[in-house]
Amino acid sequence: SEKQFRQAQKMEAVGRLAGGLAHDFNNLLTVIMGHSQVLMGELPSGNPIRAKIEEMQKAGERAASLIRQLMAFSRKQPLEPKILPLNSVVGNVESMLRRLIGEDIQLVIRPDPFNGHVKADPGQLEQVLMNLVVNARDAMPNGGLLAIETSQTELARTPMHHLHPLPLGQYVKLTVTDTGCGMNADVLAHLFEPFFTTKEEHKGTGLGLSTVFGIVTTCGGGIDVWSQVGHGTTFDLYFPRVNPQAPTADATAPQGRLRQG
Ligand code: ADP
Repeated sequence: SEKQFRQAQKMEAVGRLAGGLAHDFNNLLTVIMGHSQVLMGELPSGNPIRAKIEEMQKAGERAASLIRQLMAFSRKQPLEPKILPLNSVVGNVESMLRRLIGEDIQLVIRPDPFNGHVKADPGQLEQVLMNLVVNARDAMPNGGLLAIETSQTELARTPMHHLHPLPLGQYVKLTVTDTGCGMNADVLAHLFEPFFTTKEEHKGTGLGLSTVFGIVTTCGGGIDVWSQVGHGTTFDLYFPRVNPQAPTADATAPQGRLRQG
């Protein structure tokens, strides 16, 4: 559709801009952080200026984390798609996710008993999971429940998908559910747009979900979102299932390409 086409164009322009800027910015940041480290070493403990430098370093770390998001968004890193079980992605980042969400959020992980495989860049899948989990955490400032489930599913008839219809076939599904604040229709309508955020300044870039959308659709997958204000949100991510033994990568992937425009 026209809307999807404009979205794709916008993503590409932003991505190119962000990639170039992020790289230069990151180099400058390395200089700033390096020198502040040296300064810290020069000052005896108890010197009141140390606290100021610590503030500088904290701000620098926040900047570094924003830059990492920008670089991931612009997909500057070379991609190495592999055939891997979706379960392994969850397993790889589980301990990091637990640190991210803190003590007040209970994490439940339900792995796919059939260990379904997908074809994707593992780093990108980890990024997807991280972005969804950070959003879930931010939606539950007073704690709650976060469930991450992987499962297999067959699309046997055309379902109503949030942004585009998927080809029928076998999929491995990643479901991330939170019991957080939920979203109203206005937020849902803009969810995947680059730079759309409801978070206060410095807390959100608005790039998280547009990155997730880009990665999932690059794999030939799709996303459904269910949300109720005051109750919580569920993201269902569908990845085409692939045969782990397949000589050619997507022998069992659904036929037909995703319609982008
Ligand atoms: P950011 O997290 O930087 O704001 P995102 O693209 O990841 O950017 O998210 C865009 C917006 O979507 C968020 O600002 C928030 O309003 C909303 N959102 C995303 N995930 C959730 C969630 N699990 N619960 C409630 N709102 C969400």
